[in-house]
Amino acid sequence: MIKKKKDGLLIIVSGPSGAGKGTICKELLKDMDIWESVSMTTRQPREGEIDGVSYFFVTEEYFKEKIANDEMLEYANVYKGLYYGTPKEEVLKHLNNGEDVLLEIEMEGAMQVKEKFPAAICIFIMPPSMRELKKRLEGRGTETKEKVLERFTKAYQEVNEVTKYNYVVINDEVINATNKVKAILEAEKCRVDRIEEVEVGNIEEVLHEELIKEK
Ligand code: 5GP
Repeated sequence: MIKKKKDGLLIIVSGPSGAGKGTICKELLKDMDIWESVSMTTRQPREGEIDGVSYFFVTEEYFKEKIANDEMLEYANVYKGLYYGTPKEEVLKHLNNGEDVLLEIEMEGAMQVKEKFPAAICIFIMPPSMRELKKRLEGRGTETKEKVLERFTKAYQEVNEVTKYNYVVINDEVINATNKVKAILEAEKCRVDRIEEVEVGNIEEVLHEELIKEK
């Protein structure tokens, strides 16, 4: 009866490093049919990260070439000289296919996407407190003290700009936060501006059928 628009939802999940957005996205992908974009970065792989799965790990020269060729949907120089970005082609292909697409990216890139796709759903994952965030960042043990401080400083800037997003979800417990994100996405799918056509049929025909049944 209702024909929905063919394009999938473009979902952006951001939040400070250590807020737990990666865990929430993983949980989301287990239960929902969403395609997650693989970002490109010039940072070194961490232990256990796989090229082409965690990220496409590339050189700065290669990354800049992709920018020059207009092959990036967005990009940002996130931490001192490190580039992160979303390759454009795959995202557009999946969206046009009617699939929902997830980007787990930071704020600067998120705003670039929002400008190009105003219908993108921007969700900000917030830590329960800045003290808790600092504890989580230190507890990871994957970064030097200087890098933890850099991430914490960026976190402060990002949290202050949360109003640029459509939704904010506090990650107190992963399960609660994931359920909230799922609820947001379900609601977004029901928006009337996602309807392309309403087909109710011919009123006379429907009434006529009812009258025949009554006889
Ligand atoms: P990490 O180095 O911890 O993997 O990621 C650092 C930050 O870069 C995170 O906030 C993450 O969301 C962000 N990030 C990852 N991929 C992209 C991307 O493609 N574009 C942008 N703008 N940020 C990204």
